[in-house]
Amino acid sequence: MKSFSKLTLSKAMLDNLKTLKYDTMTPIQEKSIPPILAGSDILAQAKTGSGKTAAFGIGLLENLDVKHFRIQALVLCPTRELAEQVTGELRRIAKFQHNIKMVKLTGGMPVRKQEHSLSHEAHIVVGTPGRVLKLLERGSLKLKDLKMIVLDEADRMLDMGFIDQIGDIFRYAPEKRQVLFFSATFPDEIKKLSRSILESPVEVSIDTEHEQKVISQRFYNVQSKDKCQSVLTLLTKYQPANALIFCNTKDGCRKVEKELSAENLHSLALHGDLEQKERTEVLIRFTNGSSNILVATDVAARGLDISDLGAVINYDLPFETETYVHRIGRTGRAGREGLALSLLSPKEDFRLDQINEVMKAEFTSEKLNLDSSEKHYNDPAMITLSINGGRKNKISAGDILGALTSPGGIKGSEVGKIDRLDYLTFVAVKRDAAERALKILETEQVKGRRFKAIIND
Ligand code: ADP
Ligand code: MG
Repeated sequence: MKSFSKLTLSKAMLDNLKTLKYDTMTPIQEKSIPPILAGSDILAQAKTGSGKTAAFGIGLLENLDVKHFRIQALVLCPTRELAEQVTGELRRIAKFQHNIKMVKLTGGMPVRKQEHSLSHEAHIVVGTPGRVLKLLERGSLKLKDLKMIVLDEADRMLDMGFIDQIGDIFRYAPEKRQVLFFSATFPDEIKKLSRSILESPVEVSIDTEHEQKVISQRFYNVQSKDKCQSVLTLLTKYQPANALIFCNTKDGCRKVEKELSAENLHSLALHGDLEQKERTEVLIRFTNGSSNILVATDVAARGLDISDLGAVINYDLPFETETYVHRIGRTGRAGREGLALSLLSPKEDFRLDQINEVMKAEFTSEKLNLDSSEKHYNDPAMITLSINGGRKNKISAGDILGALTSPGGIKGSEVGKIDRLDYLTFVAVKRDAAERALKILETEQVKGRRFKAIIND
């Protein structure tokens, strides 16, 4: 634990941190503030509550030229509430200096009023992508003197479909600028986006792996022909929020998924024979919570960034123990206990011995009672609506949210992830809100047009 005084910060800043009772730096602050002060681009990941706001806030405020009344820093947040929180925390940290002016630009407030605040000049803008872009397009927000852009909760911004708007915002910024990405998780999309925007970024990651994750591993002796029923029995017994089921082959994957679907589970298959389009849809439906069972091969699951899996089930045990370790590493992230369940047919018994040998463990297998009472596994919380319009039709996530939540529609809290493709958008809504959502889309226009929506289930 290091004290802030180890950093070359102004005395006023240090004194203020002391009054805030920020005595020592949190790990993400310790690792990211020095490169930020040095002017590097940053790709930083640490879980929620780890002090990310102060991590970029301190660097941002120390780099500010207070006498220069121009927008020098822009902080983008995914939601109004988060922008509000960030503004609050920045104000607290900025107290060391008089005269630092901040403007909050989020939706739901009159544009005119925000333009008025901007006309009085400020140093820092904190806002949501939609509104910031609108003010840039109207010419009332100017970024000519911008030195730094922060993407806070970058993962959530991508989840919410802000990627195009963010791209547009960057086009208004000067070529030479410092960019900071802060995120609670590091999915592949973030890495991809960062490669196109950041310049040789310093990567900082405070991994939850340091918190020694706990995965409960169980092995069940079953006959090959009973494996599907065994999966059902295990889902009934453990009720994981969702599960990734591994098969060793594409054919196996397809077959198992069919059997599970026949049992009325909301399962999907992910294997190498899918077209890119199908693969995208499968991943969207699993990650947005409208399917809770994904049956996959190792190859197809590679690069899949899904954290917080309720369970990993090995329908087949893999040939290599290394693969086993990799598979089960997908459950139990973010401090939650993971669950790895493996089915062992008599022919696979020796694989448990291998696992024990390599992992220096002493797992034993147990019998699974299949004929115990009724099997029941919960439906997923969400359901996916697909709408026949997307990015290229200039539909934004906000447009869709707006239509769904217009009078007679559904509540904002009933809307989940919105994924836009070129000409297609997938919206997750709460299962029992689906019919109402469809109905409102039949009457409401989106961007002046009526689009067709169907339920994918
Ligand atoms: P994150 O953005 O990573 O979720 P926040 O920036 O919201 O986390 O910070 C979480 C809480 O920790 C806030 O209440 C903040 O005031 C507090 N905090 C941040 N840095 C420190 C520190 N160095 N010492 C003590 N408290 C801190
Ligand atoms: Mg935060």
